[in-house]
Amino acid sequence: MNRPDLLSVLEAGERRLKPDAIHLGCRVQGFRQNGSGVALLLEGGETVTGDVLLGADGIHSHVRAGLFGKDESRFTGQVAWRGIIPMERLPPHLTRWVGTNWVGPGRHVVHYPLRRGEVMNFVGIVERDDWQVESWSTRGSPEEFAADFAGFHEDVQIMIRAIEVPYKWALMLREPLPRWTDRRVTLLGDAATRRCRTWHRAPCRPSRMV
Ligand SMILES: Cc1cc2nc3c(=O)[nH]c(=O)nc-3n(C[C@H](O)[C@H](O)[C@H](O)COP(=O)(O)OP(=O)(O)OC[C@H]3O[C@@H](n4cnc5c(N)ncnc54)[C@H](O)[C@@H]3O)c2cc1C
Repeated sequence: MNRPDLLSVLEAGERRLKPDAIHLGCRVQGFRQNGSGVALLLEGGETVTGDVLLGADGIHSHVRAGLFGKDESRFTGQVAWRGIIPMERLPPHLTRWVGTNWVGPGRHVVHYPLRRGEVMNFVGIVERDDWQVESWSTRGSPEEFAADFAGFHEDVQIMIRAIEVPYKWALMLREPLPRWTDRRVTLLGDAATRRCRTWHRAPCRPSRMV
């Protein structure tokens, strides 16, 4: 399932229950808690209060930093490239409803269809030590992307050429948190999981060697 699709379903359900429940464009800076509640401090100086705070603000969580201090991450020596390809840009033999894993020395590629087969998700991992930015939104250049997978099978090259905007993400490791909660404040999702995850939960056929 494509994450934006899941988020749309959750958003629609939440707005049906409580039309004003979601406030976009509010960046959290920190929080204060005492015996009677939690005050959430937003950029711009606004404060919002409530009974409890659930911090689901991702891998660079401000709520986690407020609970347990700034985290320390360690680079794995691997960089992930990712991109989404509209299926109509691919030749028929690459549009089948299977997950595929291409494995080579120091590099591998996983791709699988999403959104009822309308798009192909592409993730390529390469071992390199010159990029250590952990970000969803950092764009790489198509030339750098192609260079990282030079020599891979032509099917992989076709997909790389079909990705207009490749994103690159340095994979980092963190020690597990001993606990997620302090009184009225707790963590959820990546904010709470300071560990290296196993991704690619799509069904895979046997790997091909390149
Ligand atoms: C390259 C790559 C491939 C992946 N592939 C898979 C996969 O195939 N399958 C899989 O299951 N998982 C995969 N993952 C992991 C998955 O994306 C994450 O585990 C998941 O997105 C975590 O969800 P989350 O809601 O906890 O955090 P996020 O999705 O990071 O959401 C956090 C939210 O908090 C918001 N936020 C951040 N800071 C603030 C702030 N200060 N104030 C207010 N809001 C804030 C952000 O804008 C964002 O909306 C992949 C991750 C990467 C990097």
